[in-house]
Amino acid sequence: MLRALLEVVFPRRCAGCGEGPWPFCDACRSSLLALERPWCERCGAPAPAPRTRCRACPPPEIERARAPFLFEGPARNAIHHLKFEGWRGVAEALGASMAAVAGPWGPAETSGTQAASPAAGPDSPVDAVTWVPLSARRLAERGFDQARALAEVVGSRLHLPVARLLVRTTDTGSQARRSGPMRRAAMAGAFESAGQPPPLVLLVDDVLTTGATAAACARTLLDAGASRVRLLTAARALAPAERAQLRPGPGRYTRMGLAPGSVVARGNVPR
Ligand SMILES: [Zn+2]
Ligand SMILES: [Zn+2]
Repeated sequence: MLRALLEVVFPRRCAGCGEGPWPFCDACRSSLLALERPWCERCGAPAPAPRTRCRACPPPEIERARAPFLFEGPARNAIHHLKFEGWRGVAEALGASMAAVAGPWGPAETSGTQAASPAAGPDSPVDAVTWVPLSARRLAERGFDQARALAEVVGSRLHLPVARLLVRTTDTGSQARRSGPMRRAAMAGAFESAGQPPPLVLLVDDVLTTGATAAACARTLLDAGASRVRLLTAARALAPAERAQLRPGPGRYTRMGLAPGSVVARGNVPR
């Protein structure tokens, strides 16, 4: 009720540029770079032909990784708005696209891919969704956890339980200037288990860069009893070699049914 009222007074703006209509205006939608096949089946990085792994693959703790968008342009802006400016509605716009790429990992009865995805297979349904948590200090600064907001939209759309399974025990500061191995060293021991994880966990974060943070989370979940961990992020940063494999095409954001006028665009996201 309050939210509906606020949206009349302060209508939502394009998650990318903040000017056009929500969730993404035409200009931003057409410049969102979608990650699509052919790709590395393990991590979803674009490739000249389908492959089972690649140089951009995250650390081995991550069974598979997917992200709807390259971390550039409107997707990068949207994540910035979500993380640093508290535009919580952005989680719905991005989470819807994340759920669309992770569709095969939803419950078998809704994904319709049961026959193609045996229980032990790489696209079998996950048991629960969790997220890469902020430290208590960062959470107090920001007021909300952006990865949790994304995880809740993904869980709601895929009809999966969302559970807090991790606690961040140390504040490692910005990873942006650290190399891959340095990031991994900095992240080791940064998380603790917050309960018994189910066998197959879907870990949600905003951006996949080297995967060091996600791997530290996955290691903690595996040590606590999970048998497999998959990763779903809103966007993916790519090195120039993988970035060069992206081919322009019709915007997947439109094909996902997320164009203006769709359920997401109207803001009627099922909770
Ligand atoms: Zn825009
Ligand atoms: Zn890969």
